[in-house]
Amino acid sequence: VAPFPVPFGRHLRTGYLKRGATLADLARATGVDAAALQASVARFNEHAARGEDPDFGKGSKAYNRYQGDALNTPNPCVAPLATGPFYAIKLVVGDIGTFAGLVTDERTRVLDAQRQPIRGLYAVGNDAASIMGGNYPGAGITLGPALTFGYIAGHQLAQRQETVCTGTSPCDARGGLMGSETAMQAHPHAGLLQGRLALITGAGQGNGRALAIGLAQAGADVIVTDINAVTVAETAALVQATGRRAWHHVLDVTAAADCQLLATRVAQEAGRIGVLVNNAGIIIREGSRPPAARRRTSSARWMSTFKAVPST
Ligand SMILES: Cc1cc2nc3c(=O)[nH]c(=O)nc-3n(C[C@H](O)[C@H](O)[C@H](O)COP(=O)(O)OP(=O)(O)OC[C@H]3O[C@@H](n4cnc5c(N)ncnc54)[C@H](O)[C@@H]3O)c2cc1C
Repeated sequence: VAPFPVPFGRHLRTGYLKRGATLADLARATGVDAAALQASVARFNEHAARGEDPDFGKGSKAYNRYQGDALNTPNPCVAPLATGPFYAIKLVVGDIGTFAGLVTDERTRVLDAQRQPIRGLYAVGNDAASIMGGNYPGAGITLGPALTFGYIAGHQLAQRQETVCTGTSPCDARGGLMGSETAMQAHPHAGLLQGRLALITGAGQGNGRALAIGLAQAGADVIVTDINAVTVAETAALVQATGRRAWHHVLDVTAAADCQLLATRVAQEAGRIGVLVNNAGIIIREGSRPPAARRRTSSARWMSTFKAVPST
């Protein structure tokens, strides 16, 4: 909901935004206890009048204050809630990204404990440790590096002949698969992966989708998989638009039976996998009170993020 004067009537109509002439009305509209809401607001107002927010620290950092209302003093992020009507929205806690992950170098190669590249293993996006080192300097710090390093990873894979099919695979025999090469001609690695078959998990969006298109532009036919049936079909269509063949499968990488089924189908219908990118990611939600809870998870949940690599 944007601030005044941007219209917000549609948010009221959909029920996303709740309104009450008084706090008691708002409590009724939102289904919370009226006395508790009034007490919370009274406590908030007492601190807000002094520009303080002991519960959540709003306005305690320069980044918060930069996003606040500069005309409101002494703290651009808090003011007493004194005059109705009052508004509320339901907040649902989620993650927008991670800063911990696999350590990589500037070529997206995953490094081992001795900081040496692990052959054939690349990581980008939420799977990779953030280059921001846990800081949040501004919007775009996850998607920007994710797109940049996804692009680099695609180039790295395209250049690494040893990561693709060796020997003769069934896909080598499909000489007539090139189709329209319009998009490929502009690509710096066009044709490098010609005749190869790539399989990407988590290809419904983000880096997975970018990699699928990049590998196709480098000449590979691509099997795209994702837990989301709609977005993975969209990715397949984008791959086909480059002139390459694409198969799409709904796959939950944590379900061993799904992976086995896919491996069987790929062997029967498509051929030998030359490039395998396990991009499927799992967002970890543990607790709800930031910031400490965001940094805490159980080792079992952490391992479940990495445990399932399709057996192809
Ligand atoms: C509300 C919101 C706002 C955001 N705003 C910004 C912003 O303004 N700027 C910014 O830079 N970043 C923003 N981000 C963060 C950014 O969107 C993510 O960091 C980025 O999308 C991560 O890309 P990824 O490819 O690593 O992972 P994802 O995009 O999460 O891709 C993972 C893929 O794996 C699939 N998958 C998950 N589990 C399974 C499974 N078990 N089996 C198979 N497939 C699976 C998913 O369906 C998905 O397609 C925002 C995120 C959210 C949620």
